[in-house]
Amino acid sequence: MGSRKVSQIGGDQSGSLCAHRTEEGGTTLKDQVIPKATAKRLPLYYRYLRILNNSGKQKVSSTELSEAVQVDSAPIRRDFSYFDEAAPLELSGYGYDVEALMNFFAKTLNDDHMSNVALVGVGNLGSALLKDKFHQSNSIRISAAFDVNEDIVGRIVDGIPVYPLSDMAEQIKLQQIDIAILTVPAESSQPIADDLVKSGIKGILNFTPARLHAPKSVLVQNVDLTNELQTLIYFLHANSQDENK
Ligand code: NAD
Repeated sequence: MGSRKVSQIGGDQSGSLCAHRTEEGGTTLKDQVIPKATAKRLPLYYRYLRILNNSGKQKVSSTELSEAVQVDSAPIRRDFSYFDEAAPLELSGYGYDVEALMNFFAKTLNDDHMSNVALVGVGNLGSALLKDKFHQSNSIRISAAFDVNEDIVGRIVDGIPVYPLSDMAEQIKLQQIDIAILTVPAESSQPIADDLVKSGIKGILNFTPARLHAPKSVLVQNVDLTNELQTLIYFLHANSQDENK
């Protein structure tokens, strides 16, 4: 079981993510569905493992990992059990091998090669994202931005060129961009998503409140801060009710 490799995390429209794995020495390709909650925690683990590795630490226990990323150790062990390659890395009593696990997650999260990302809509939110530059990852960079506003088009904003929409298909192909961030007004989002799909985009991080239609082969991830806040408020109330019992 330790001979298989999880090569990348992809996704489907149902909210579960698929790890496409190859069997070493074989020709079979297998898809294993990883719960979305697990997939969401992987970058957390990966970030902490990079910190440990940079500080020269060689081993980490699931208890230490649990305290650092604030996830109970039971779900951590369950998460890791989805990865054949990661499970044997836990050396009984001594924890996980930091470097091996970090390299494993780098490969799983595709962090071992640069991903160029496009951003469409350089307004309030788009500009903030251009400024952030995803500094927590060395392997994601926004390499092109697009807008219709002639005051912005042709400028370089925070080191990133802003192109007119008419250049979108060409730049996406030229720069081999697979992922686009959508920060345009909701009413413009569907036609832009259609153009992005036609240009070969495989994943859309949609910040607009519109729910987009896209072919099954394209993964759309919606980001909604209002939803996140409402969830937080719900859990805050639930916690304080528990404390009052
Ligand atoms: P904004 O008006 O400041 O920026 C929108 C940008 O899109 C502008 O630069 C505009 O020129 C550009 N644009 C308009 N039509 C376009 C088109 N057809 N093609 C390319 N560019 C186009 O808006 P904002 O405050 O940055 O918000 C952007 C989007 O993000 C909105 O849909 C908003 O509802 C959403 N939003 C989401 C969250 C969240 O939590 N997900 C939070 C804030 C805003």
